[in-house]
Amino acid sequence: MDYLPIFLDIKGEPCAVIGGGEVAARKVALLRAAGARVTVTAPDLCPALAELAARGEIAHCAAPFSEAALDGAALVIAATDDRTVNAEVSRLARARRLPVNVVDDPELCSFIMPAIVDRSPVVIAASTGGASPVLARLLRAKLEAAVPAAFGELAKLARRFRARVRELLPDGAQRRAFWERTLQGPIAELVFSGRTHEAEAALERGLAAAAAQGADPVARGEVYLVGAGPGNPELLTIAALRLMQQADVVLYDNLVSKEVLELTRRDARRIYVGKQRANHTLRQEQINALMVELAKQGQRVLRLKGGDPYVFGRGGEEIETLAAAGIRFEVVPGITAANAAAAYAGIPLTHREHAHSCVFVTGHLKDGTMDLDWHGLARPKQTIVIYMGLLGLEALCRQLIAHGLAEDTPAAVVQQATVPQQRVVTGTLRDLAARVAEAGLRPPTLVIVGDVVRLREKLAWYEPQR
Ligand code: SAH
Repeated sequence: MDYLPIFLDIKGEPCAVIGGGEVAARKVALLRAAGARVTVTAPDLCPALAELAARGEIAHCAAPFSEAALDGAALVIAATDDRTVNAEVSRLARARRLPVNVVDDPELCSFIMPAIVDRSPVVIAASTGGASPVLARLLRAKLEAAVPAAFGELAKLARRFRARVRELLPDGAQRRAFWERTLQGPIAELVFSGRTHEAEAALERGLAAAAAQGADPVARGEVYLVGAGPGNPELLTIAALRLMQQADVVLYDNLVSKEVLELTRRDARRIYVGKQRANHTLRQEQINALMVELAKQGQRVLRLKGGDPYVFGRGGEEIETLAAAGIRFEVVPGITAANAAAAYAGIPLTHREHAHSCVFVTGHLKDGTMDLDWHGLARPKQTIVIYMGLLGLEALCRQLIAHGLAEDTPAAVVQQATVPQQRVVTGTLRDLAARVAEAGLRPPTLVIVGDVVRLREKLAWYEPQR
C-alpha cells in the first residue's frame, strides 16, 4: 500500500484552503460536509465561495498566500492554479507537519483525497494512489451502482439498535449471526424500499426471538465446504464469497491462492491444513476431526478447497464425517481445474468434431505406478484430463500409446491456470514429456490429451504477464 486509508474527524477543526476557484470550492464543500471550520485564503473568490463567505459559513482572508494562513490549521488544501504557490504551501505545511493536499499533484501531497461514495454514515473511499483519477471515478461508479441508495439508512437503523442488541445478546458470536441475518435479509430489503418503520418493527421481533432462544453454541456451529476455484479470485462464486465473509475460522489447502484467501473475513482465524505431495501438514482424519471439533464449539467453519471440493478433493469424505457427527453443512461448488484450464488455455473439453466424451482422472502415482483403466481412456473422440499428472507424465503418455492412441495425438500441460503464472506447453503423446521437462513446468499442472488441443491455436486468448 502506498497510502494508509483513514477517516479523519475534523468536526469543528480549523482547515485552511488556499485558492478561491471552482476546484477550491469543491474541496471546501467536502470539508464542510465533514463539519470543518474553513478559512479560504485567496485574493478573489468564485461565486459559490463568495456566497458562502457572505453568509458567514466560511471565513475569507482576501490576500495572496502567506505562511500566516497556516496558523492554527489542522489540515491544509492548496488549490490555486499556480504550481509555485501550491509548492510553497506544501513545503511550509510539511515543515509544520500539517497534513497537506495539493489538488491533482500527488508529489506535493502528504495525503490524497479518495473518490467517495457517500451513504452517510457509511462512506466508501476509493483511491488509485494517484495513478489514475479516471480509474478511481470508474470504480466509484461501480460502487454507486452496487450499494443501495438507502444503505446509510440501514446503518442508522443498526446504530439505533446497537446498544440494545448488545444487551439482549451478550454472546458475541450469536450477536454477529443476528446482525448478519438482519443486515442482508428481508429487514434490509424493507429499509432499501423506504419502509423503515416496518423494518424497525421486524427488527424488534427478530431481536426478541433471538434473545428468547439464547446462546446455543452447538446449534450454531456449521461447516461450509466451499470450492475456491483455480486461483483467480474473479472465478469465485457469489455464494463462496458470502460464506467466506461469514466464517469464523478458515481451513485451507495449499491450492487456495493468496488472493482468494484475502477475501475471507479479516478477523477470521486461518488454519493451513496442507497438503502438498509427501508433505501432508495434517492427515485427512485429523482435518475431519478438527472440523467437527470447531463446529461443536459453535464456530462457523469454512473449509476452503482449490477448484471444486468434489473433484479429487476428498470433499465427500469430509462431509461423511460431518454428517455422522450431526453437524450442519453446506457445499458450494467451485470451478474445477479442468474447466478453468480449458477456458484459459483455449482448449474446449468437448467439440462436435473432435470429442464426444471427456474423462477426468488422477495421475497420482501410487508406489511409482498409475492404476488407471487404460482401455477405457484410449478411445477415439475422447478428451482425457489428468489431474496430478506431472510426475507420471512420461509413463502416462507411454501407456496411452501402448493402449492404442496414436503417437501424434495432441496433448497439453497447463501450469497454474487462470493466474499470471499460467503457462501452457503443447505437443503430442510422443514428445510432450520432453517438452514439459525442458520448459521446467511446476505443479499445479493439468494434462489434457485429445484432438481438442489443436483448437488452442484458434481459441487461446489469455496472455498472462510474466
Ligand atoms: N479439487 C481440485 C483438484 C484437487 S487435486 C479441482 O477441482 O480443481 C490437485 C490437482 O488439481 C493439481 O495437481 C492439478 O492437477 C490440478 N489443479 C488445481 N488447480 C490448478 C490450476 N490452477 N492449474 C492447473 N492445474 C490445477
